[in-house]
Amino acid sequence: GNREHSGADVICNDGSTIYAPFTGRLIGRANPYGNGNEIDNGVLLQGSGYCVKIFYVAPDRYSGPISKGQALGTLLNLQDVYPGIISHVHIQMCDKSDPTPYLL
Ligand SMILES: [Zn+2]
Repeated sequence: GNREHSGADVICNDGSTIYAPFTGRLIGRANPYGNGNEIDNGVLLQGSGYCVKIFYVAPDRYSGPISKGQALGTLLNLQDVYPGIISHVHIQMCDKSDPTPYLL
């Protein structure tokens, strides 16, 4: 669509386990839309000097320390809201800089 895309999409299947891209601390909920629909959920992960919003995830928890590679939640059912979409987790730096270096 015409919406700006401000993050990186990592392809995965609905219901997949999502793992932390880096070590840090979960600091709260992040909602991609704010409309309360089925996929309007996510979590804020703060590292040293930066943070990311991780969207379309039902997190196991919204606070506390987490290590890179540790499970943080489950991908929501994007197919229910956008049938035929390539399901993905959306990772967006809080300052909208490029998150790609953290995903390698
Ligand atoms: Zn995206």
